[in-house]
This record gives sequence, C-alpha cells and structure tokens, in this order.
Amino acid sequence: MSSISLIERYTGCLLGLAIGDALGAPVEFKERGSFPPVFEMQAGGPFNLQKGQWTDDTSLALCLGTSLVEKKGFDPHDQIEKYIKWFREGYMSCTGHCFDIGNTTKAALLRYEEHKDIYAGSRDDPATNGSLMRLAPIPLFYFHNIEETKLYAGLSSKVTHAPKNCIQTCVDLAVYIHRALQGQSKEEIFIDTNIDFRKSYEEVSGKGDALLCLEGAMWCFYHSKTFEEGVKLAVNLGDDTDTTAAVFGQLAGAYYGKSGLPQYMLQDLYDKDMIEELALKLFNSSAL
Ligand SMILES: [Mg+2]
Repeated sequence: MSSISLIERYTGCLLGLAIGDALGAPVEFKERGSFPPVFEMQAGGPFNLQKGQWTDDTSLALCLGTSLVEKKGFDPHDQIEKYIKWFREGYMSCTGHCFDIGNTTKAALLRYEEHKDIYAGSRDDPATNGSLMRLAPIPLFYFHNIEETKLYAGLSSKVTHAPKNCIQTCVDLAVYIHRALQGQSKEEIFIDTNIDFRKSYEEVSGKGDALLCLEGAMWCFYHSKTFEEGVKLAVNLGDDTDTTAAVFGQLAGAYYGKSGLPQYMLQDLYDKDMIEELALKLFNSSAL
C-alpha cells in the first residue's frame, strides 16, 4: 500500500465519493433485494439522471471543498452561502439545478435564509447522514493537523446537522480518512472504533440514519478487498444507496488511491476532471 502517493489518495478520496454517489443514484430509495444487483454505472433512477451523473452528496462536497480552498480555511458563512447557491441556483449540480435536497439540509438552509444563523442545524432534527456524505474535503484540507481535522469535521456538520450522532459520525469518519491518507492498514484505521465488524452483511443497513450509514459503509470497506467489491456491497444494501456508497467511497478512495478505483466506473463519471482538480487544490492548500 505504501507505494500509493499522497496525491493519489487525495484524488481517490474525492473521486471515490462521487463514484459511489453516481453508482447508487439510479437505485436510491429502493429496498435491499428489490432491484437487480448494480455492477456498473446506469442512467435513470428517481431523478432520471444520465449514466455517471451524481447527486447532492457530491454537489455539497464540491461546495465545501471549494469554500475551503477559496477562503483558505473554515468559513461556515461561506459554506452555507454555497449550499444556498446550490439549492437556489444549481451551483455544482450535474443538471444545473438542485433536484434532491434532503429534509434536514433543506430545513437548515431555510432557517439560515430567515435568521442568518450560520450554524443552522437543529439538535431536534433526526440524526441523518447528510453531513457525513459531504465530509471528505475536511480531512483532506486539514490533513496536516489531526486536532483541526476533528474540530472542523464536527463544526462542518453543525452548519446543517446538529444532532450529537451527526457530529460524532463526522468526527469518526474524518479520523478514519486521515489514517487512510497516512497509508495505515484497515486494522490500524479502525483501532479504536465502536463499529462491530462481526455483524453479518444481513445485519447492517443502507438506511439514512447517521450511525447506521457509517456502520454499513465501513462494514463494506472492512469486508472487501478492493474499491470495486466494496462499492457494490454498499449500493446493494439498498435504501439510501448513493449516500452509503459515497461514504464508503471517501474512505476507500483514500485507502486504495485513484489507481485503485475501477477504471470503467471512473470513465463514466460526470465531470471527473473538475472533481480531480478540486482534490489537487485541496492537496496544495493543505501544505500551506
Ligand atoms: Mg444523494
């Protein structure tokens, strides 16, 4: 594993998120076992996307990453303004408009528009996976400092998702990605995890709850030998397929690097050059 360069891990992390999102999008909201197993990019789904197009997971990650680069650091005001620009104007969307905003994110953005409170997440919201799915730019930008990685992972959640479990799962995933970027083994990455990897595939889920999402995505990473094998396990869990696979893809992409991504999936990925370019900017910014 040590032959994988750090740059390759950065590009792998962000491209991995987008590949998982695009692979899962056509079967989003379908129950496990109710659709033929997904093994390649497809068109269609609830948003009638073209093959390789991605959804809110990637759009919001691109908003967050662009903000970190442009502002040279954590600026929650700019982050939420970019999320609003996506919501209202289709900024960073594959189709030019926002077609799939999650309930918790939407409630937070509407709250912000009314009250201008930049930490617009409500602790009373259900603890869903909407801040976890866009997280990758934080551990990339703050790679030089694990304490800042943890701090800003949590704060990045609070912009839209304030429940304790949303914040905690973001901190946990950021630490796992940090360790993968360092080239650590799977055993080392999960040295202090609460996730029970003795569960069976039937016992984990692709549901939208933050804790269940992190568990399901990490299970697929831990129990597979390649990005390709793991991303298919994640999508085929059903339900919130694109997000489970996007969460998987952030960590697995950092772990296996860009060259470890299935090239036939990467080829079909919409706007992959723009995503890779942002990963390179995050790499260059992180060294400052
Ligand atoms: Mg989505």
